[in-house]
Amino acid sequence: MTGFIPVLTFHSLDDGRAPTSFGPALFARGMETLALGGYRTISLAEAASLAAAKRPFPEKSFVITFDDGYRNVYEKAFPVLAEYSFTATVFLTTGDGARTADGDRLPELFGGEMLSWGEIRIMNDAGVDFGAHTLTHPDLTQLSPEDAAREIAASRGVIERALGAPVAAFAYPYGKYDAHSLAITRREFACACSDELGLFTASANLHAIPRVDAFYLRGERLFGLVRSPGLPLYILLRSVPRTLRRRLAGV
Ligand SMILES: [Zn+2]
Repeated sequence: MTGFIPVLTFHSLDDGRAPTSFGPALFARGMETLALGGYRTISLAEAASLAAAKRPFPEKSFVITFDDGYRNVYEKAFPVLAEYSFTATVFLTTGDGARTADGDRLPELFGGEMLSWGEIRIMNDAGVDFGAHTLTHPDLTQLSPEDAAREIAASRGVIERALGAPVAAFAYPYGKYDAHSLAITRREFACACSDELGLFTASANLHAIPRVDAFYLRGERLFGLVRSPGLPLYILLRSVPRTLRRRLAGV
């Protein structure tokens, strides 16, 4: 048992150069290496409930999250997750939820092709969790408390209606939150993820859970997780230059 767990953040699995891109081949190799190294995933909800109860996390465990809801999560990540019986939480920017038939897609974000509700339902049936990521992906700290409340709570409602299941988790767009948005997510969700770089521990704020953006794991760093049962990961995270952190801020 261990006192911390990495919550990995991916956005889009593609070979582009954007900070939000992560190569699909490296993802597949990384997950294979982790699986062969004896690592397994626990769900974000499970990690949050362990942290809330101040109980330790299972040894060699980690959490996978995907932000935004790109179609390549279904095409590139889902088969890999299924192969190793890994689970993940996918945070969806839902739009107004007027169209959630199987063929309808999430509203386009940053020019990417998004998941269809049919793809979301297939993954949901296979045990992938879905969390809310607002209606339109705004910077919540720039909105009135009323608008922020609507963006946060209504996106949860869209997913719950479309999937017929409760939604436990939220991720702040761009990782940005303030006292208002924090108060709203405390009311609406069991947990919420920030983009602050760090490992999830029992002392973390359950509504601003730190994560490790996959951007920091490019190259061969994802494999470093396997070689290190924890402590070297702390060192790895501490070694991320400040300039790199700044470059990522606002993604
Ligand atoms: Zn996002």
